[in-house]
Amino acid sequence: MDYQALLNQIHKTTKVHPIQGKVASYIPELAEVDAANFGMHLCCLNSGDYAIGNNKKRFSIQSISKVFSLALALQAGDYPISRINVEPSGDPFNSMILLEQECGIPRNPLINSGALVMADILISNFDNPKEAFIKLLRNLSGSDTIDINSKVFLSEKKHSHKNLALLHLMKSFGNIKNDIEEILDLYIFQCAVEMSCKDLATSFLCFANGGQTLDGQEVLTSTKTKRINAIMQTCGFYDEAGEFSFRVGLPGKSGVGGGIAAVHPGYYAVTTWSPPLNPKGNSDLGMYALEELTTLTGLSVF
Ligand code: GLU
Repeated sequence: MDYQALLNQIHKTTKVHPIQGKVASYIPELAEVDAANFGMHLCCLNSGDYAIGNNKKRFSIQSISKVFSLALALQAGDYPISRINVEPSGDPFNSMILLEQECGIPRNPLINSGALVMADILISNFDNPKEAFIKLLRNLSGSDTIDINSKVFLSEKKHSHKNLALLHLMKSFGNIKNDIEEILDLYIFQCAVEMSCKDLATSFLCFANGGQTLDGQEVLTSTKTKRINAIMQTCGFYDEAGEFSFRVGLPGKSGVGGGIAAVHPGYYAVTTWSPPLNPKGNSDLGMYALEELTTLTGLSVF
């Protein structure tokens, strides 16, 4: 298949696709990002890389970081099933409703409550979890310039009331072990990392490859990789995981920075970036481009 020709075709259709949605505006640094940015990067396991648009421009990965913190926690131990469930929430990313009903056990690790417990677990398992997190990303992406945007980091800190509330609620149920400020700091740090579509697709390739990088390093066992992909499939798109499966048909994760990273196990990793978000918080044009990709190639997991 001529993937570059196919991506060029997708690029043409994205240019005429009406831009819908709004750029995230809860912090100025995200609100100021140009809504017209678009990038897409496809890394195939057997046939190289293909790209369109701003595939090398870095953006705030936000919630996509939750997949990497899950991977790091699974490198250190088994899935913490007694503390974080593996069911879709059907609720927005920062919702508190189910958390109260379900006694402080988050529905899954890809919503805020679950990622905050995961940050708690990383603090218990690593002497320097921030360093371990960045090291993992640099290793997976092959780029030692991956880092956080400190303006985003500081700004997020000022707008963390809901995340703090989630932490306190979970603490009241005994599901938080470390200092709340320290956990929040790590969570905000991971969200403030900047990566490009190319960096992200290269990093996600290990989830498409049974847990191994292309040069043969074992990042995770194939069983743990299967679990991460299963969680991405069922829980990766806030309260729109069903819609993403229905339209695109790949395990993946979105972030409010407008990025989406997805994998077709055994075949490829693919990422898109377009900042305007639909009402559920997922990149509208990114979802459209990925739907085009799996439709035109016939390559989805279903
Ligand atoms: N930093 C954001 C928050 O926790 C991440 C949201 C997201 O990308 O879903 O509110």
